[in-house]
Amino acid sequence: IVLMGGLGADDKSALEKIKDRGKLVVGTSAGFPPFEMLNTSAAGGVEGIDMDVAKAIADALDVELEIKNYDDFSVLITALQNGKIDMVIAGMTITDDRNESATFSMPYYKADQALVVLKSNTDILSTADLAGKVVAVNTGTTGQYYIEDNLPDVGEMKPYGTASDTFQALSGNKVDAVIIDSPVAANYISDTNPYKIVETIETNEFYGIAMSKNNSEDLVTEVNKILEDLIDSGEMEKIISKWSQA
Ligand code: GLN
Repeated sequence: IVLMGGLGADDKSALEKIKDRGKLVVGTSAGFPPFEMLNTSAAGGVEGIDMDVAKAIADALDVELEIKNYDDFSVLITALQNGKIDMVIAGMTITDDRNESATFSMPYYKADQALVVLKSNTDILSTADLAGKVVAVNTGTTGQYYIEDNLPDVGEMKPYGTASDTFQALSGNKVDAVIIDSPVAANYISDTNPYKIVETIETNEFYGIAMSKNNSEDLVTEVNKILEDLIDSGEMEKIISKWSQA
């Protein structure tokens, strides 16, 4: 019988590991504006609300920040479980299912889902009009789960790796509609973009930072303290308005 744990490095808590390493490794999936967007000139190649939060956490822990970007949102929890990253900051909704495989921080942002179609579309006015239609979602997200659980008449659900891929599919007429997180949908609406939001679906989701379930109590406590400070000091509000469309 091999008893796991109790040896060397594995004894260290999640927080101790980060401090000893001198570096916090954060996993995200860019293509989810305004939370994480690719920008080659940004530190770590990714910028946005979540990346400012990541930086604030690294600063408060007095360690360097490394961003690991994944092209597919749905692999983030596995990367966390495999120890490739210390935490996920990716507009990730706290759900019962995910609570089985990760520990979440306190919530830091509230979102709903939104139904988006092309401005030129006149026959989809709400989710009630999606029967037989092709709808794009970001793979492994709450938008996908919403369709699976609530919209059995949807003709076809097409999964894409990132939110930005779903909008490309919509503008390229590969799909009839997109169901995506409401703040991200809002970010894509502009005079020059071809999209419109026809319905906000009140799913009442809360974004949290996902951490390992393994020996992470001290890290979770610390991250919650840092988030609380960001919220109480008004810094979180500043970060959010800095990246949100006027
Ligand atoms: N909030 C959604 C989820 O957690 C979408 C996240 C994302 O695509 N980055 O499933």
